[in-house]
Amino acid sequence: ISWICGRGHSNFIATSTTITGLQTREIVQSLVVTPGKDFNSKFGHYRHSDLIGMPYGSKVGSRTGKGFIHVLRPTPELWTMALPHRTQILYIADISFIISYLDIRRGSRVIEAGTGSGSFSHSVARSIGPSGHLWSYEFHEARAKKAREEFAQHGMSDIVTLTHQNVCKDGFNLTDAVDSVFLDLPAPWDAVEHAKQALRKDRTTRICCFSPCMEQVLRTVSALNDAGFSDITMYETLVRPHDVAQVPALQSITEVAEKLKKAEGVREIKRLQQIAAGQRSRENPHGEKRKRNEVGGHDELPVAAVEDSGSGKRLKTDDEMDDAQDADVSRSLDEPSAQAACAPPPKISVSKAIPEVRGHTSYLTFAALLPPMPPALPKDTNSQGEQTS
Ligand code: SAM
Repeated sequence: ISWICGRGHSNFIATSTTITGLQTREIVQSLVVTPGKDFNSKFGHYRHSDLIGMPYGSKVGSRTGKGFIHVLRPTPELWTMALPHRTQILYIADISFIISYLDIRRGSRVIEAGTGSGSFSHSVARSIGPSGHLWSYEFHEARAKKAREEFAQHGMSDIVTLTHQNVCKDGFNLTDAVDSVFLDLPAPWDAVEHAKQALRKDRTTRICCFSPCMEQVLRTVSALNDAGFSDITMYETLVRPHDVAQVPALQSITEVAEKLKKAEGVREIKRLQQIAAGQRSRENPHGEKRKRNEVGGHDELPVAAVEDSGSGKRLKTDDEMDDAQDADVSRSLDEPSAQAACAPPPKISVSKAIPEVRGHTSYLTFAALLPPMPPALPKDTNSQGEQTS
């Protein structure tokens, strides 16, 4: 099954398909679906034959009824999470940065050393596709053999050439052939001159050296300088987690002031209503209805009632006032603006970056090799090399 470079894909799991099973977000396991075989984990018991014909992405319950797994189409990212470690490996944060900075793309010709567990190789193979090529070197024989087997099983044999070789001593056996070189070696400086020989000279090419400590970086930088590389730059890739939370959205000062004003208005009406109710109960403790057409005695009534006294109109009876006020208050409380004043404010998602980030893997030292300058034209010669005088 050629799944790495996008050929031979089917949407369904078939016999001998490599799949990756997601048991938790962290526990990813790869297995080759083989009828007659079983898969047992703390998340249950599964028969491989039950998976055949299932669409990728299916959630499969265990035979014992407890637990489930998700069966997924393998990708380089999942392989990096699931692969058997034979060495330290590169993880996706570094891999994606290196691939992007080295400008590795469809059709690129790339060298990597050493192959190690093949984590980086899988992502490069997908990026370059069938029109590109990856030359991978590993001087540990058992690791080279195992990686070669995995590359074949994952349909990468046409794209990757794996050579069992010490690149610091014997170089890459390539001249002016590749667009970029990636070195994940204990002593990359010993391979810099060999890398230069392998890189194309007709265009700008790039190199990246992955080293865990600063002393190695300094030696590499010296070797790159001596070999004539330029634009030497170093990066460290750290994954910074963000805490995401929902908080009330920020409002403009005008909006807040408007709301406060409305809320204050509602409170004031309630206050007046309470005063009026207090006065009523003092004057008419037994709840009898009163009739009064005079202004006197209204000093403690709500403002609206006192203002009416100047117009000469008949003032409302206390009971009419009470009814009107009650209606006013409930109308005020029913108004959308009052509801808005009481409604919970809208929420937005915000994230807070954790200030201290740990998780150093290595420093990435990049450099470019520029094509040689064309020879200067002799004086009195035009750009076509013709004699002008
Ligand atoms: N980048 C790999 C990955 O993502 O899986 C991991 C590479 S591992 C850290 C380094 C590998 O380089 C080891 O497998 C080691 O055997 C190999 N190595 C060290 N020195 C070498 C040399 N001079 N020539 C070839 N391979 C070498």
